[in-house]
Amino acid sequence: MTLAPLTVGIDLGTTNSLCAVFEDGKPRLVPNAHGGVLTPSVVAVLKSGEVLVGEAARELRLTDPGRTCAMFKRWMGQGRKIELAGKEFTAAQLSSLVLRSLVEDVKADLGRAPTSAVITVPAYFNEHQRRDTRLAGELAGLRVERVVNEPTAAALSHGYHNSSGISNLLVFDLGGGTFDVTVMEVFEDTLEILSSAGESHLGGEDFTDKILAWALGEIGLIFEHAEVQQPLLVARLRDEAERAKRLFGEQDQVTLRVPDEAGNVGHGARSLELGAAHFEELCEGLIERLRKPVERALRGARLGWDQIDDVLMVGGATRMPIIRRFVADLLGRAPQAKLDPDLVVAYGAAVQVALIADNKAVGDLVMTDVCPFTLGIEVTKELGRREVDGYYLPIIHRNTTVPVSCEEVVYTLRPNQTTVTVAIYQGEARRVGDNIKLGELHVTDIPHGPAGQEIAVRFTYDLNGLVEVEAYLPATGAKFHTVLTQGVSGLDKRAMKAALKDMQKLKFYPRDDLDNQRLLSFAEGTVKELEGEMRAALEAGIDVYESVLYSSDREGFAMMRAQLLQQLRDLGFPFPTTPEGESGRD
Ligand code: ADP
Ligand code: MG
Repeated sequence: MTLAPLTVGIDLGTTNSLCAVFEDGKPRLVPNAHGGVLTPSVVAVLKSGEVLVGEAARELRLTDPGRTCAMFKRWMGQGRKIELAGKEFTAAQLSSLVLRSLVEDVKADLGRAPTSAVITVPAYFNEHQRRDTRLAGELAGLRVERVVNEPTAAALSHGYHNSSGISNLLVFDLGGGTFDVTVMEVFEDTLEILSSAGESHLGGEDFTDKILAWALGEIGLIFEHAEVQQPLLVARLRDEAERAKRLFGEQDQVTLRVPDEAGNVGHGARSLELGAAHFEELCEGLIERLRKPVERALRGARLGWDQIDDVLMVGGATRMPIIRRFVADLLGRAPQAKLDPDLVVAYGAAVQVALIADNKAVGDLVMTDVCPFTLGIEVTKELGRREVDGYYLPIIHRNTTVPVSCEEVVYTLRPNQTTVTVAIYQGEARRVGDNIKLGELHVTDIPHGPAGQEIAVRFTYDLNGLVEVEAYLPATGAKFHTVLTQGVSGLDKRAMKAALKDMQKLKFYPRDDLDNQRLLSFAEGTVKELEGEMRAALEAGIDVYESVLYSSDREGFAMMRAQLLQQLRDLGFPFPTTPEGESGRD
């Protein structure tokens, strides 16, 4: 007997990743090794060469930042190498490690491995970034059934929960590193995405960085240099800044403790006071940057704020009062708060899985999406008597409902011109130089003749947000065709195989031991808080724990673990056992 293939829905976030399955007619989140559902998108490579992902890696970031890497989703599609513990990785490879960790969690939960996945991406992700996301899935051994826009997934989750009435909804998704706005119309079971806009380098981390930059300034350091000069101090201070940012949800004044060069915050540590009003002043520029994509999305949907019935808040950063107030001011009342901003995208990804499988539970739900950016080619313009190249001819305009296929006809410039290179771009600017180049299509064997021979260029944009370009020569009937694989991570079959093998070589730290590793990192972090005898005692406790952690004496280990947990409790630093996402040391 063979089991049916298992498809999972994955929210592969900049900060946190989640995995959901569709079960018994509804989506369910898969717990990770720590019992939580948010897995920090952080990867660490231990001295042993083993890979750690998630909470344990996030905690190691404080004590050993050189061995950990976070926020790599920001580098998707850029092809650059990221150095981690002396090895080089691409963002797609690091993302694949996060996905592999989620796969392990599914195995532990359901007793079998998923075979394929629906993975969400920010709507504003470009072609290269989407391809890298698919690649990450494949490197993790998953067939990627669909790449879905995050706000669209959020909309699906919403649509699944409310299937009555007509309304216009704006999805406001502010995550750790990206900002997306989507406007949609909900009519009974039909969700129609009207427009999408966003910024791929704006998120909650930028708010943390504002606090961090301010605090570094207060102690006479410059943000731009400090990370290189004082990595441990910065890692710890960033943690303090993150904590402060979250506390502004509950209090008007927060205290940041200033670590020393080694990242320690002893009893005599200096502290800095930051008021909510000052924090909001620091963030004014960021708030201004949120305004533009919102306006663009509304313009794209041809709607005004007075026609928006509700705002769906998505992403952890929308928990900040300053953001809620910003949205409430625009909407004229408080945005809805029915769905958990951290979970809604993952739930939606699982609903998408059910839609693809024609699951009866979502049977009547229909959804349409749009292409969030303009796609086109480079053309030459005749300006007066001059021929100037470098101009952009849009072929698919942004916010066109997908899937879509559009054609434009271009002409050869010179007599007897036998070849044309069609340069393909994505973006909104009038000149191609300001847009993103996606690739080229070479048209050859154009029959000899005068200038002005026709070439029909057709763009097809599918549900995954992937583009196919075709050129057709009416004179000969010849067709030229490309699916854009020239993207930074376009790998042919052989390269793919080699890349897969490379990634498989990396051994994961045993899942059953993850929490033990996390306890080690946590205890090591706590050492930094202590001085004198207390510090020495804890260090001794950790030494014993660490020595049995790597031994095969599991019974002895259980005892030592209990002892260390007790010691931490006694010291006033209880180990958070079921972190729901990012647990603080507060
Ligand atoms: P992503 O989709 O990028 O993975 P998330 O939706 O998980 O991001 O949001 C992560 C961001 O939300 C981080 O910048 C984090 O600091 C922020 N965040 C989470 N909880 C809170 C909170 N209670 N207050 C303020 N910011 C928060
Ligand atoms: Mg997100």
